[in-house]
Amino acid sequence: MKLRCRVFAFCCSLTLLFSCALAEEDDGSLVRITTGLPAAEAAEEELAAETDGGETPDAAAEMAQPDEADAGAPAPSVTASPATEETGERWADSQPFGIRHGPRDQKKVAVTMDDCYDRACIREIFDFCQELGVPMTFFPLGDQLKKKDAELWKAIAASNCEIGSHTNHHTNWQHMSYNGICIHLYRTQECLDEVLGYHYGMVSLRPPFGRYTNEKGTPLATAVKACNRYGYEHVVLWDVSQTNAELAKADVQNGSILLYHARAKDVKCLKTLIPWLIQEGYELVTVKDLLQLGEIEIGPEPYVHKKGE
Ligand SMILES: [Zn+2]
Repeated sequence: MKLRCRVFAFCCSLTLLFSCALAEEDDGSLVRITTGLPAAEAAEEELAAETDGGETPDAAAEMAQPDEADAGAPAPSVTASPATEETGERWADSQPFGIRHGPRDQKKVAVTMDDCYDRACIREIFDFCQELGVPMTFFPLGDQLKKKDAELWKAIAASNCEIGSHTNHHTNWQHMSYNGICIHLYRTQECLDEVLGYHYGMVSLRPPFGRYTNEKGTPLATAVKACNRYGYEHVVLWDVSQTNAELAKADVQNGSILLYHARAKDVKCLKTLIPWLIQEGYELVTVKDLLQLGEIEIGPEPYVHKKGE
């Protein structure tokens, strides 16, 4: 079984390498990569599964944090406290570029959903959360933001939920140039605004596969520079991704960021997990609120990238 997984992962990698080569060849405009998408979702699931084991492969630079080094390790001690109104500093300011969880000293968690390929699943979990009065954060791919789904995305944007960027399509940053990442970032903002009909300035960003480092575990200079250019000071990762609700319950702790996808099995898990979180006294918040990433900037005019911007 393990060998099959490795062969599968290798095939995914080949697909991605091929896809990315296509993306790199195009200097000025986006290349629609269709070959990478299904494999991408599966590979991200594999990454999530690896994370369940206690390691985030792409975040070796942050592996020194004791809470992430060993799944069997005791719960981490309290890290930084959220900024107060007196200091004016955000909690995120004290964090590394890649953030995997929020403050451990507050009983708050954020539930997130990536990719958003299946609109029926998004609708189902969104309605479920609205009935319970709790927010979620959705990280759709830009090319999954379709005009035919405009009413759904408008409802999400107008609700207590948050919409963040997962880039335009699911390309691994490790194989992309600075310009390539920039295009993905601004294009996703364009796609969202186009669907909403107004400007919704995203503040949360999750890189495809959660990958943002080089082979040594250092954040990619290209990624950091591109993110900062478009106002993202951090990338948002996760520390819980089990789709088995009982296993997820065991992983959740203060500040957890939970990763799910728009799939039936994930929705089923969340319908058990979210009521349990509420019952246990966790406050469900958006990623931007958990990490204090800033406020969504709303404006009448949809963002359209201008050359040199
Ligand atoms: Zn993804």
